Amino acid sequence: MVTATFRFYEELNDFLARPLRRRAFSCACARNATAKHMIEALGVPHTEVELILVNGESVGFEHPLADGDRVAVYPKFEALDIRPLLRVRAAPLRELRFVADAHLGGLAQLLRLAGFDTLYDNNFPDPEIEALAAAEHRVVLTRDRELLKRRTITHGCYVRALKPSAQLYEIFERLDLAASARPFRLCLTCNAPLHPIERGEARTRVPEGVFERQTRFVTCDVCQRVFWEGSHWQRMRALMDHVTRTAPHIRTQTQT
Ligand SMILES: [Zn+2]
Repeated sequence: MVTATFRFYEELNDFLARPLRRRAFSCACARNATAKHMIEALGVPHTEVELILVNGESVGFEHPLADGDRVAVYPKFEALDIRPLLRVRAAPLRELRFVADAHLGGLAQLLRLAGFDTLYDNNFPDPEIEALAAAEHRVVLTRDRELLKRRTITHGCYVRALKPSAQLYEIFERLDLAASARPFRLCLTCNAPLHPIERGEARTRVPEGVFERQTRFVTCDVCQRVFWEGSHWQRMRALMDHVTRTAPHIRTQTQT
């Protein structure tokens, strides 16, 4: 029998049974169990994990555990400075793109609003989300821990907040998105790029009053709808300004 000692840090504790949170505990492991097997057996999706130390050394997910090992597991968390240490992922995803599960339609729209390519369909079955994530190198956003345990999903975020605007703040902070946001680049419905059009071209495509008041128009090539900077746009602009101004490192350095 192999017994190892585990300690999970920061928000990874949310996934553990209550008595195991924020402390070291011993756990019997199956023979040949890897770090990933045990972490997931304890309830933590591997996609939430950024760094694993076994006896003080950084190891990969497939590291086999030995009797007496001390395993420290860290989340992706900007305020814990783990950058100098080797991480479990060989390479970060270069351009952040997302696929959101069926419960996150509101968040998907807000991410598109911020300019992040985000696939969403309330009929996507789990295997399709897994396939899209692998084929298009998309980060999976979900409120379903089981989904994040699927084999081929390498990058994922378990979304804790319930309201779409709070979810947007959460994802911006955890993934440090503020610097790469490009608001009003994508159609909220189609996830397709928006293009400016000549004002004259908009004349027959928008209500007359709108045409008279507005000077700038953009269109989506997929749904052909025309958008302008109306009151809805102004509210979205305020939200975007607030999210992108909120520093990603506002959390103080905390060690638990
Ligand atoms: Zn569209």
